[in-house]
Amino acid sequence: MRTVAGIDLGGTAINYTFLNEDEKFLIEGLCEHPARSKEGPDVCLAQIAEGFEMAVQKAGISAADVSVIGLDTPGPASAAGVLSAKGSTNFVHADWAGFDIPGNLAKKMGKPVLYLNDGNAGALWGHFAIFGASQVATSISAVIGTGLGGGVITDGNVVKGRKGFGGELGHVLIPYQSIAGIEGMAPHCNCGRTGDLESLCSLTAITATFLPYFLGKNPDHELAKLGDIPKAAKLVRGMAENGDALCKEIFRVQAHALGLFFDEMVNTFDPDALIVGGGAIETSAEFQQWFIDEIRRGMPVQRAEQADIPIYIMPNGDTAGSRGAAIEALKHARANAL
Ligand SMILES: [Zn+2]
Repeated sequence: MRTVAGIDLGGTAINYTFLNEDEKFLIEGLCEHPARSKEGPDVCLAQIAEGFEMAVQKAGISAADVSVIGLDTPGPASAAGVLSAKGSTNFVHADWAGFDIPGNLAKKMGKPVLYLNDGNAGALWGHFAIFGASQVATSISAVIGTGLGGGVITDGNVVKGRKGFGGELGHVLIPYQSIAGIEGMAPHCNCGRTGDLESLCSLTAITATFLPYFLGKNPDHELAKLGDIPKAAKLVRGMAENGDALCKEIFRVQAHALGLFFDEMVNTFDPDALIVGGGAIETSAEFQQWFIDEIRRGMPVQRAEQADIPIYIMPNGDTAGSRGAAIEALKHARANAL
C-alpha cells in the first residue's frame, strides 16, 4: 500500500494531511490553502489540486505516492458526497447545487475519492485516536461547536445512513425536562425541534437559550451588563473555567444533556467508548475532567456491566476533518489492496 490523503474542504479553507501504511500522519498541524468556494466548483476544484501539490511537498512525498484520497465537507450532502440540490451554507454558488464533489475530484486527480461529511470525519478521527484503524470497536462522538456534530462508528465503520444523514446526533431528542435547574426553559433548535441535543449542547444553545434564561434570573451578572448576548456567549467557557457560578451552571446543564444523550446511545449500541470534542471543551485538563464527571452524573443509573463505559476527550480539533477523511481512505486502500 502507498500513502493516502485526507482533504478537508470548508467554505474558506482546504486542509490537507497524509497517512502512511503504519497509520502515521505525515503532517502534524494545519496545512491550508484558500478554498474560494464562493467562486463555484471549477475554481474550487482547481484550488484543491493546486493545494495538493503544495501539501505533498510539505509531507516530503510525491503525488504519485498517494493511492486514495479521502474528502470531507460540511453538508448537507448524500452519503456519496453529492451536495444538496437546495444548496448549502458553505457552498453558495449556484453551480454547487447537486454537485458531485468526490466524483469530479476523482476525475481531476486520477485517483479514487472517498467521501464523509465533516461530522462523521471528525467522529472517525476520534475513534481512530483511541482504537486505531484496524479495530472493530464501536464509538459515539459528540462534537460541541457552533452546533452539535459528531457521528456513530460501529465495528470500525462510519454509519452514513440511507441519504447521508446517519450520525446527525444534534437533532436527536432528549428528555431534557429531567435536568434539574432549568424549569420552564424551552430549548428550540433551528431544525424545528424542541429539546434535541444541539438545542442544549452548542454555542448556539448558549446564545439562544441559556443566556436569555439565566441572565433573566440574574440581571446583575456581569454578562447581563454587557448587553450583547452573542459576545457574552463566547465568554461563557472561559468564565466557567475560572469558576463563575452562572457560567459553570450552563456547562453543568450541557454536560447533563450529554449524559442523557449518551445513555440513549449506551442502550442502543452498547459502545466501547463515548467521545466528546469541540471548542466547548478546549479547556484545561482539570475542567475537562469535571465536565466528564458531570456527564456521568447526568446519566441515569447504568447496569453494573455498563457503568464503567469510558468517556474520552477527542484530540486535535482543527485537523479532525482531514484526519478522519484520510482514515476512511486508508480503510478503502487496505480493503482493495491499493
Ligand atoms: Zn435540531
